[in-house]
Amino acid sequence: GHFADSITRSLGNVTDTLAQPFTEPVIRLGVTGLSRAGKTVFITSLVANLLDRARMPQLVAEAENRILAAHLQPQPDDTMPRFDYEQHLGALTSATPFWPEGTRAVSQLRLSLKLRPTGLLAGVSGARKVHLDIVDYPGEWLLDLGLMDKTYDQWAADTLSRLAKRPGGETYLAMARSEDGSAPFEEPRAKALAASFTQALHTARNAGFSDCTPGRFLLPGEKEGSPALTFAPLPPVADAPRKSLQREMERRFEAYKSQIVRPFFRDHFSRIDRQVVLVDALGAIHAGPAAVEDLRRTMAEILGAFRPGANAFLQSLLLGRRVEKILFAATKADHLHHSQHGRLSAIMEALTRDARDRARFAGAETHSMAIAALRATVEQTLPHEGRSLDCVRGTLLKDDGTRGREAAFYPGELPQDPGRLLGVAREGAEKWLDGDYSIMRFAPAPLSLKPNEGPPHIRLDRAAQFLFGDRL
Ligand code: GDP
Repeated sequence: GHFADSITRSLGNVTDTLAQPFTEPVIRLGVTGLSRAGKTVFITSLVANLLDRARMPQLVAEAENRILAAHLQPQPDDTMPRFDYEQHLGALTSATPFWPEGTRAVSQLRLSLKLRPTGLLAGVSGARKVHLDIVDYPGEWLLDLGLMDKTYDQWAADTLSRLAKRPGGETYLAMARSEDGSAPFEEPRAKALAASFTQALHTARNAGFSDCTPGRFLLPGEKEGSPALTFAPLPPVADAPRKSLQREMERRFEAYKSQIVRPFFRDHFSRIDRQVVLVDALGAIHAGPAAVEDLRRTMAEILGAFRPGANAFLQSLLLGRRVEKILFAATKADHLHHSQHGRLSAIMEALTRDARDRARFAGAETHSMAIAALRATVEQTLPHEGRSLDCVRGTLLKDDGTRGREAAFYPGELPQDPGRLLGVAREGAEKWLDGDYSIMRFAPAPLSLKPNEGPPHIRLDRAAQFLFGDRL
């Protein structure tokens, strides 16, 4: 009866998880980063290059000729959206290539690799199979972890004081201050407040600020317009009555935590083995010191998610599981001549240092590098005022999406000393990448570069080696 039932049920669970023969290991690779960091382009290029393999020399299994075949397979999770690889690749490989639509929500893709066996079994066993499940999700959603241990009043106070220091905050603050939280709740008021608050978050984001939580306000996913996404921070009111605006805002904030944030961490985040965090560091550096300092704090916060010991909520979900490796990759390195790539990786190291030290403490192996998933430029050194200038050459993208002129550009210089970048960032002076960087919006290069022009990516193969090469 009851006992047999529960045994069958738990056997059911066991067979579910073992539906994969255990000779076919699965690596769940999380790909995250803030909006426009380059997630979609990264996954599309990674998959295309793994399927093709001609341009992945730093992936050891490939260099050793051990990858016999690679193909896409239906993913095991029937209710999870599939990463639209074909559509994105289509954009990048069309006659006039264009950038694909970026990540708006969580999605997944399974790439299966057939490998020549190594070691003791090499002579006796057939090919090995490894499944790479790539999970794409907005970094904004990760930042929501910071909300989990806050009450509505704590969150509102933090958020209002942060808005006061950011472009676009004033309009919302004026609205929030003039609101009477103890007045009876009315949906149109809540909607207007949420809309104005969302606008303020967008303005801050466009000015280069990274931490613009709640994450679903910028990237709502399928829950857009639901009550759990229609709230906003209000100044505290003592003893707000039942059914007041304040009490309903508080209730919705709690619903956001329990019905939106929690399921994401439970169903997706908690199952990740390896993680790459993509960062548009160049964009923040160009935007200026305040944006860099904000990015540094955001990176620390993102890494909080990989240190479950520090967070009771996460600990209860993970049950001892942990992410084994985390890569921090500064994207779009093709905006710089390679003579500046070392500086970019050093900056990436510095930006994530505190956070990395903590992750290491928690057992995850971490690394940072500068990459370009899809190289849109070639290098060119030009004489300039008696010295030589290391430039990159590419085709500009016009506002209407058509291809503009091709030319060589000098983005400007990165600071040599990353400690100085962060130090000055806190004090708020100085300007970097103030050359052509602001106009360098390149169109994607056609995917087939001539052999002597180098691979169509920068260090994507090294990134792959760090992330999952040890399992191949
Ligand atoms: P997501 O929002 O994180 O999915 O970001 P996307 O992958 O959509 O990338 C955002 C934009 O960054 C793209 O539309 C491109 O303009 C640019 N981008 C991304 N990767 C690269 C790259 O490797 N090189 C260059 N030059 N631009 C890139």
